[in-house]
Amino acid sequence: MTTQDSSAGPAPATEYGYQCPYVASGATTLRCSKCNRPLMPKDAKRTPTGYVCPYYVKARVATFYNAGIEHYVLVAIVALVLGAISGFVLGFVGNIGFFALILVIFVGPAVGALVAEAIRRVLGHVRGMYFWLTAAIAMAVGAIFLLLPSAFSVLGGNIFSLIPFLGLGLAVSALVARMRI
Ligand SMILES: [Zn+2]
Repeated sequence: MTTQDSSAGPAPATEYGYQCPYVASGATTLRCSKCNRPLMPKDAKRTPTGYVCPYYVKARVATFYNAGIEHYVLVAIVALVLGAISGFVLGFVGNIGFFALILVIFVGPAVGALVAEAIRRVLGHVRGMYFWLTAAIAMAVGAIFLLLPSAFSVLGGNIFSLIPFLGLGLAVSALVARMRI
C-alpha cells in the first residue's frame, strides 16, 4: 500500500494552500497526515491514521475500485451459475409445501451469503463499485431460469409456488447486504 498518491495532483494554492487567509494566518496547525498540506478543519477527513485532505480522499476512492471489465464478467458468470444452483435448491425446497415457507426464511439469506462469499474468494482483492449490482442481477437471472416451472405453477393458481421466489428475494437481499460496503 502506498501512502503517497501522485494521482491526487497538485493542490490549487488558492483553495487549500497557503493563500487561504485562514491557513496563512496560522489559525490552523492541522496538516494532512499523508501529504502534509495545511488543512482547514472543515476539509479534514478523519481516518484511523490521522486527518487527511480532500485530495488524498479522492485519490484513495479512485484507486480503491480496481476492477476491469473482465472482473465484472467473472462476477456475472459466478453469480449466474451459483444463482442457477440456488434456483434449483429453492425450487426443490419450495415443493415440500407449507413447511417450505419456514425453511426458505433461513435458507434464502444463507444462500445469498454463500454466493457473496464465493464471489469474494474468486475475485480476491479485486474490488468493483458495481460488483454487488452485477452479482444481484446475474444471480436473479440464473435462479429465475431454474424457477420457471414454479412461475408457471403460480400462474396455474398454486400459491405455494411463490415460496421459492420469496427465498430468492431474501437471498439476493443478503447478497447485496454482504457485497455493498
Ligand atoms: Zn493530503
